[in-house]
Amino acid sequence: MFNTVIFREYDIRGVYNKEFDKDFAYLLGRAYASYFYQKHGKKNINITLGHDARLSASEIKASLSQGLQDSGVTVHYIGLVTSPISYFTTFEFPNIDGAIMVTGSHNPPEYNGFKISVGKGTIFGEEIQELRKIIEAKNFIDGKGSEKTLDVFSAYVEKYKKEFSQMKPIKVVLDCGNGAGGIIARKLYEAVGLKPTILFEKPDGTFPNHHPDPTVEKNLVDLKNQVLKEGAVVGIGFDGDADRIGLVDHTGRMVYGDELMVLVSRAVLKNNKGAKIIGDVKCSDRLYDDIKNCGGVPVMWKTGHSLIKEKIKVEKSPFGGEMSGHIFFADRNHGYDDALYAGLRVCEIISQTGKNIAELLEGLPEAYNTPELRIDTTEEKKVNIVKTLIEKFPESSEYSLNLIDGVRISFPDGWALARASNTQPVLVLRFESWTKQGLERIQSRIEAIVNPML
Ligand SMILES: [Zn+2]
Repeated sequence: MFNTVIFREYDIRGVYNKEFDKDFAYLLGRAYASYFYQKHGKKNINITLGHDARLSASEIKASLSQGLQDSGVTVHYIGLVTSPISYFTTFEFPNIDGAIMVTGSHNPPEYNGFKISVGKGTIFGEEIQELRKIIEAKNFIDGKGSEKTLDVFSAYVEKYKKEFSQMKPIKVVLDCGNGAGGIIARKLYEAVGLKPTILFEKPDGTFPNHHPDPTVEKNLVDLKNQVLKEGAVVGIGFDGDADRIGLVDHTGRMVYGDELMVLVSRAVLKNNKGAKIIGDVKCSDRLYDDIKNCGGVPVMWKTGHSLIKEKIKVEKSPFGGEMSGHIFFADRNHGYDDALYAGLRVCEIISQTGKNIAELLEGLPEAYNTPELRIDTTEEKKVNIVKTLIEKFPESSEYSLNLIDGVRISFPDGWALARASNTQPVLVLRFESWTKQGLERIQSRIEAIVNPML
């Protein structure tokens, strides 16, 4: 049983036993092997299979594994892991042809889903629809596979232990939010010489303490308090499958995704002169200006972690990220979004410079901005509102338009973004200005058009 809405832009995801069930997981296993054969002409492949902390994980995993095996796949079961560790296996284990991660990411506990790697890349868009078509046509290859277990943690920790061997100890607090990150965060951070205090370390699919989404301010309350209590220099939060990161500075202030990108891109550009740095359309002009000022080439791209990851590859960029906390390092890593790794890079910058986050962001002009505003609407309205805004702001000397993803209108003293979410019936807005009055003016000018249409 499944509802086709689960086939989304970047992954397959829905409410378990309502929008898909274990029989679907079996069919997905069969479809994966069949898709791989269609695309690469290879049967009897080796893939890793991991999952996050959700309660439905083991049931889904068992069916998925059976489906894969019945289409000839050797399943290497890696257990409870983060999504980035699932990606890691496709880069660091030469015999592995792909990976499936069973995860509901930061969604509520009743959700679950699949992030799917074919070769070294995660599939998205049309490729995900291909899997649906194979399932609907029952166009499966047959075979006789098997399942074995594979320990990935030692290779993972060993790799980064070497890389960060110069790390000086700093006081850091981690918040795993009872997500999958807790399975390995302590081992990884202690291996590089840090002694983090870790909140909500034990993976628990009911998420009993707070929702595992560190880019929403209300989920950072415990992390803020602990940072202040301990006088830590930074607090780092991870989402449910640890591919998104959120930061709190030493004063307990939430650091936005684009500010985090400013401090990292400054460091990355020191060793990658003239490099392209990728951000999404939700990021502040201050990020793009700062990249330029540091000798880099800013590239604004569409929102969506698969799209940013792809763009980094195409542009041979060392670093990129999204406002939402997906942060990608091709510099010294494999170009995917590993929040535990990104956290280590932040710790490394702090430990090398001896500066706190406020000091590392020095020189960044002041700005007044909103966070990302997500407004529930309908599939139809979200598209119409963006269209209407484009019509209401024809080319003019007063402002300029960027239509890469939705519409981003740049005024002399700030900008407004409106885009239709790829994954939900949601309109995304964000506003920024260099003055408080400017922010109010820009926001009310756009909202005067948007609000009556909702
Ligand atoms: Zn996630």
